[in-house]
Amino acid sequence: MSGILVLVDSCEADATETINELLTHGRNLANQVNGTLEAVTFDPRYTDLAAGWSEHGVDLIRYLTNSSLQDYGPQAWAQGIVQITSLVEPVAVIACGSDRGHEVMANVAAILDAPFVANCLSVMVGEPWQASRVQWGGSLIEEVSVKTALPIVSFALHSCEAKLSKSSEPLEIVFHEIELDSEAIKTVVTERTEKPAGQSLETSAVVVSGGRGVGSADGFDVLETLAGLLNGKVGCSRAVTNNGWRSHTDQVGQTGKRIAPDLYIACGISGAIQHWVGAMASKTILAINTDPEANMVKKADYAVIANLHDVIPAVSHEIVRRNDR
Ligand SMILES: Cc1cc2nc3c(=O)[nH]c(=O)nc-3n(C[C@H](O)[C@H](O)[C@H](O)COP(=O)(O)OP(=O)(O)OC[C@H]3O[C@@H](n4cnc5c(N)ncnc54)[C@H](O)[C@@H]3O)c2cc1C
Repeated sequence: MSGILVLVDSCEADATETINELLTHGRNLANQVNGTLEAVTFDPRYTDLAAGWSEHGVDLIRYLTNSSLQDYGPQAWAQGIVQITSLVEPVAVIACGSDRGHEVMANVAAILDAPFVANCLSVMVGEPWQASRVQWGGSLIEEVSVKTALPIVSFALHSCEAKLSKSSEPLEIVFHEIELDSEAIKTVVTERTEKPAGQSLETSAVVVSGGRGVGSADGFDVLETLAGLLNGKVGCSRAVTNNGWRSHTDQVGQTGKRIAPDLYIACGISGAIQHWVGAMASKTILAINTDPEANMVKKADYAVIANLHDVIPAVSHEIVRRNDR
């Protein structure tokens, strides 16, 4: 093979969007090396998912199984990927810059005793390969030369917009029964808690997020009302979770969730870098803040300089009035 091997982990939260973005990066790399883009998957639902992967540039699917592998297992997946790597000799192995993608690729790199280039924004094939990657939670973009026989790369979440690259066509599927040694079953999934059905902070098209400026846990009632009217979800900054006003599951940022909604409404949030890295992939940002010099105001597409407790109820009132017309 003279192409790119991509780990497609379709069982992760928010998988469709992040996979499509990853495949867009993969197709771009495959074009640069004039090679194929081959998807490695452990997901038995691959036949249902193949059409979407094909549209986003995949040429072939390699489905990996082993009787002792019923669920996600980072060491086992890594052993399987290494076996396929020695079989097909790809030019590079890539994965999503998610927790699981990083865990598996770190294991692949450890087995191969090779470097792992994590969290890339873009990769250029050359002598040597060049990559831009995110460091320190997004506050630093690092330019690196990748001097290794087999680049092992992850792409940062939401680091490109997913693009269709060809029309959907039936894909060739190659089955691989992989061999696993006792070391491979170190980590196994023993229990799975289903997320409540419906949209989440990561998938919602609208996120109304509040910061310290909201003032209290009860102050979030107006944000909940607005989010409800916009069919959105409520997020928050770390100042809010530190104060115990909201659960950490609502936190956006470096130590919270990285999201990419169509509309992010940042209410009483200053826009510290650790918050910004979680919100910067939003398509449109509206900041509501009393401080015109706040970082979030400067970076937003639109800003209202006012007390959020005046603005948000007024916006909600107007939406209700228009809906009632
Ligand atoms: C290692 C590390 C990781 C971190 N991870 C995260 C993370 O994941 N997510 C995160 O959010 N932070 C994170 N932080 C914290 C981050 O540095 C900031 O401290 C935090 O984001 C600030 O939250 P804030 O904007 O709500 O509060 P502040 O910075 O205090 O800003 C409050 C804003 O509200 C405005 N305001 C006040 N009253 C009103 C009003 N009535 N109406 C309108 N505006 C008003 C103010 O003008 C101000 O701009 C991290 C920090 C570290 C060191």
